[in-house]
This record gives sequence, C-alpha cells and structure tokens, in this order.
Amino acid sequence: MSQRVAIAGVSGRMGRQLLTAAMHSELDLAGCTVRPGDALVGADAGQLVGLTTGVEIVDDLAALSSDVDVLIDFTSPEATLRHLDYCVKQKIAMVIGTTGFSEAQLAAMKAAAARIPLCVAANFSIGVNLLLDVLSRTARLLGDGFDVEIVEAHHRHKVDAPSGTALAMGQAVAGALGRDLKAVANYGREGHTGARDPQTIGFSTIRGGDIVGEHTVLFAGDGERIEISHKASSRMAFASGAVRAAAWLCGQPPGYYDMQDVLGIGETSP
Ligand code: NAD
Repeated sequence: MSQRVAIAGVSGRMGRQLLTAAMHSELDLAGCTVRPGDALVGADAGQLVGLTTGVEIVDDLAALSSDVDVLIDFTSPEATLRHLDYCVKQKIAMVIGTTGFSEAQLAAMKAAAARIPLCVAANFSIGVNLLLDVLSRTARLLGDGFDVEIVEAHHRHKVDAPSGTALAMGQAVAGALGRDLKAVANYGREGHTGARDPQTIGFSTIRGGDIVGEHTVLFAGDGERIEISHKASSRMAFASGAVRAAAWLCGQPPGYYDMQDVLGIGETSP
C-alpha cells in the first residue's frame, strides 16, 4: 500500500510545488492544510495547481479526514513547531523544509526526533546537498590558507537572512576546518572594520525580485580563488527532493535525518 502524505501550507510558494510533486509521486495525497481562516478552506486542493485531487483543504491537522503517514511542512517556524507537537502525538513522520528556527526551536525538533522520524533540511535540492559534501571536502583539502566568504541571493519575499542554505554551507565548511560557526561567522561589515580575521567565515545577502535561490562559496587564496556555486531556477528542485525524502522517511525508525541521509551521501548531521 502507498504511504499517505499531507502537505501543510499548501497555498504557499513551496506548498503549491509540493502538491504538484506529490501528485506525480508514488505517495497518496491524504490531506492539505492552510493557515486558519484562509478562504481556501473547503476547496479541492487541486484547484491551486489546475488539477482535481478529491482532497479538501482544511485549516487544522486535526481536521484531516484520513490517516497520514508523513507530513511535509514548509510554512513558518511557529506553525511548524505546532505541527510537530501534533505529529509527535499522532506518531506521524515529518519532513521539515521551513527555515529560520531559533536555537530553542531546533532543540525542540531534536527532542521530538526521539519519538518520530524527522527529516530536516534548509535545502532539499539534490544539487545543494551534493555541494555540501563537496564543500566539506574542499575546505578540508585547502585548510586554513584560504578566506571563506558565502554570498546568497533570494527573492524579495524571503523573511530570514542569511538563508538556511547559506548557514548549512557555512556549517559544512566550519566543521571541516574545525571551527565553531557561531564564533567565526561575520554577517555584515560596515565602516572601519580593520583587516580580515583569517578564521572568519563571511556572509553576504542579496534580496530582490523573483530570484529562486543562488549561493556561492568563495575560497580566496593568494593568487587564486575557487568559487563553488549553485543556482536554483525552479522551486520544483526543492519540492521533488522533499517528496523523495517523505517516501524514504516512512520506512525509518525515529531519528533526526537530513537530505544527505536520504541521498546516502556525506556525513550524518549533528
Ligand atoms: P510562503 O509564505 O509562500 O508560504 C508559507 C505558507 O505557509 C503560506 O501559504 C502560509 O499561509 C502557510 N502557513 C502559515 N502558517 C500556517 C499554519 N498554521 N497552517 C498551515 N499553513 C500555514 O513561503 P515559501 O516561499 O513557500 O517558504 C516557506 C518556508 O520554506 C520558508 O521558511 C522558506 O525559507 C522555506 N524554504 C525551504 C526550502 C528548502 O528546500 N528547505 C526551499 C524553499 C523555501
């Protein structure tokens, strides 16, 4: 029997893409939610993407009409944490793509992973996850002689900065170099900053227009520079990865997984 998937925040930019990806996957669509009070409550979810699904949109997970094996959630940190409580109580696996969590919220997610399978990633694209592995190896090989700077660009609606993906890239590099990202990250420079501290990992953020997501990690040395870039041109890259993660997660014991675990590459996240 196919596993049953629900999508939280189905009317969002990612929610619509997740719906399309789920409809074309091996999973059965079992439910879709929107923010409480949304005008879409009661509508067929397929209306959002020009399809008929037979699945009625609800505004609360408790109102879903069928059982669910896995929930995919790309909403907001507060909504995701509320959904997590529900999933723990109902023993529903969860794929979390939301970004911008506080340390306390991340700790709550890690605690919940003792009870249900959780797959959490700031970026579900296959390309970025491959790149995280490449970045770790590159940093380890280059060592301390190269300055690391991360530049990211996203659309004008994005509410957190730097992006979760940029932070994951910074973490991959910092881990490989034996540095604590919290201690070495520099999120902005202005005025008389003094010379660059070689331990620093710098972040620069661009916001504008409809940029889906672009990341470049620079390793700047003496007389040469390496630039490793990823450019997403469609949100479907994230959605199809998240749906693949959902199908994989259904067969896993409780635990805190990431997209690298799904793809079987890299090191397990801390
Ligand atoms: P969006 O604002 O277009 O969509 C979020 C949706 O969540 C909205 O439709 C909103 O109404 C809905 N929502 C909020 N609270 C809700 C609730 N309680 N119940 C149900 N729905 C609720 O934003 P977006 O661009 O789709 O991004 C959503 C999140 O996903 C952001 O945190 C973003 O950074 C992240 N994101 C992650 C990846 C990844 O690969 N991990 C890729 C793209 C975006």
